[in-house]
Amino acid sequence: VTAELATLRDLPAITKDGHRMPLWVNTGLTADVSRALERGAEGIGLYRTEIPFMVRDFFPSEMEQTQIYRKQLEAFAPHPVTMRTLDIGGDKSLPYFPIKEENPFLGWRGIRVTLDHPEIFLVQIRAMLRASEGLDNLRIMLPMVTSVYEVDESNRLLDRAVRELQEDGHDIKRPPVGVMIEVPAAVYQVRLFAKRVDFISVGSNDLAQYLLAVDRNNPRVAGLYMSYHPAVLKALEYIAREAHKEAIQVSICGEMASEPAGALLLMAMGYDVLSMNATNLPRVKSAIRGVRLEQARTLFYKVRRMDDADKIQSFLTEAIRRMG
Ligand code: PEP
Ligand code: MG
Repeated sequence: VTAELATLRDLPAITKDGHRMPLWVNTGLTADVSRALERGAEGIGLYRTEIPFMVRDFFPSEMEQTQIYRKQLEAFAPHPVTMRTLDIGGDKSLPYFPIKEENPFLGWRGIRVTLDHPEIFLVQIRAMLRASEGLDNLRIMLPMVTSVYEVDESNRLLDRAVRELQEDGHDIKRPPVGVMIEVPAAVYQVRLFAKRVDFISVGSNDLAQYLLAVDRNNPRVAGLYMSYHPAVLKALEYIAREAHKEAIQVSICGEMASEPAGALLLMAMGYDVLSMNATNLPRVKSAIRGVRLEQARTLFYKVRRMDDADKIQSFLTEAIRRMG
C-alpha cells in the first residue's frame, strides 16, 4: 500500500459540509477481503457467494461453506458483511449444474433457482448462520427478486433454518435480510418489499441491463449500455425515495457506485450506503471528501434536466475533471 492510500484509508468518507457516506465493498474471493480492509472499507455490501461455488467441482458441503463464509465474517467483524444467496444462471453457471437456455438472462436465475431447489438454499443459509455464530455481523441478501412471494418464501425458509439451528443448541440470531432491486418489476414494489425485509440494495448492473434491454456482456450493443441513461437515473432516484418512505436502508452494489460521478449522484439521491470494488474505493472517497453535499445535489439537479445519456456522460466527465 502506498503512503497516500494508507493516509486516505484512515480518513472518514465525509463531505466538506459533514455528510457521512459509508463506503462498503463487493467481494467474492477470500483474498478480496484484505484488499478491502487495506483501503478502509467499512463493510461488505455484496459478497458474491457464487464465486467460491464456481471454482469447485461440486456443490460445497454445509461444513465447507461454513468455513468459507466464516473467513469473510471474521475478517470484517464487527463491520457488516452482506452475503448474497447463490446467484447463478444468466452469465454465471456452475460446471456441475449446467443450465442451458435460449434466453438465460430472462430465465432461471438467482432466487428462482434456489427457491426451486430449497435444499440448496437451506444448506447455504444454514452455513451462513453457523458461520456467524458469536460474530453478529451477517446480513443476507436475495438476488433477482421479482415478486413478494419470493421474499415471503425466503423468509419462511430462513425462519426454519434459524429455528432448527437454535434447537440444535447453536447460539445464533435471525440476521437482517435484504432484497436486491435489479428487475424493473422490483422497482415498483420497493415499499412492499421494505415491509418484509430490513434493507434494499440496488443491483444497478442488472437493473440497467433490464431497463434498457441491453445484454451487459454483448459487445455489439455495449454502446447502448448506459448507466447514466435518464431512465436509469429516474429509476434509481425513485427507488431511494420509496425506500425512505418506509424508513429502510437503501444501498447500491452495482458498478455505478465505483465511479466518482456515479457515487456523487447516488449520494445526492439519498443512498445510505455505496458498495463498490475495492480498487476504486479510494477514488470515490476522494471525490466525496472533495465536495459539499449541496454541490453533489446541484450536479444531480442539472443532470436530471438533461434528456440524453451521451450528453449526461460527457457533462459528468467534465464536471469530475473540473473538481480534480
Ligand atoms: C448487479 O446486478 O448490479 C449486481 C451487483 O450483481 P451482479 O453484478 O453480480 O449481477
Ligand atoms: Mg445482478
